Amino acid sequence: MAGGMTMSIAPADLHSGHRDDARSAEPHPDCPLCPRLVSFRHANWAKYPEWFNAPVPSFGPPDAALLIVGLAPGLRGANRTGRPFTGDYAGVLLYETLLQFGFADGSYGEHPDDGLVLKGCRITNAVRCVPPENKPLPDEIAACNGFLSASIAGMQGVKAILALGKIAFDAVLRASGLKLSQCKFAHGAAFDLGNGRKLFGSYHCSRYNTNTGRLTPAMFHRVFEEVAAHLRPAGNAGYHARID
Ligand code: URA
Repeated sequence: MAGGMTMSIAPADLHSGHRDDARSAEPHPDCPLCPRLVSFRHANWAKYPEWFNAPVPSFGPPDAALLIVGLAPGLRGANRTGRPFTGDYAGVLLYETLLQFGFADGSYGEHPDDGLVLKGCRITNAVRCVPPENKPLPDEIAACNGFLSASIAGMQGVKAILALGKIAFDAVLRASGLKLSQCKFAHGAAFDLGNGRKLFGSYHCSRYNTNTGRLTPAMFHRVFEEVAAHLRPAGNAGYHARID
């Protein structure tokens, strides 16, 4: 139990099947760090008792070479189902792309029991709790950064980190001990993190971005091509181009 505090049993305890070896990088199901997010969580327990309603754990093997970092769970998506990007629109393009590029096996059924397995890929969020209106506050992003930092530290074999959106991109820089001024987010940006690791940026695959055409499937796939090229042994020559 976090910090020796007495905590009530959250609905997420019922979903312990989602915990894995990177447990130390995961917040307690009733994480107390962000008062506004705690209030929202407790309100959601009362309103939707059958939902997950807790910090959503990372999904996929901790020994993966690719880590994908999203923003935060969606209310009716990951916060309901307990698996990142599962149950709302944002997961459709992401999981279809992962299947297409060989980072997943099975099929995406929009629920955590769909049998989908990630291969060489792990997914987490910059903020683990659902924020009201999908908008985490700067203090909440900062408070959650330790979990991202521990998640990255626990992935000894990670070679590529793909950040979906500017908030996730900046969270990875901060979790890696880098200044935000060292690399500016852009769709298609790539930044050398050292030790053969690269940070890639993509617009977030949200319904808003895909509906408005800010992010097309072709644009998203191009970023994955660059990630895949980096992960191929012969592709380690160094990619720093930018896709507009
Ligand atoms: N679901 C997630 O888990 N993360 C996002 O960033 C969006 C939806």
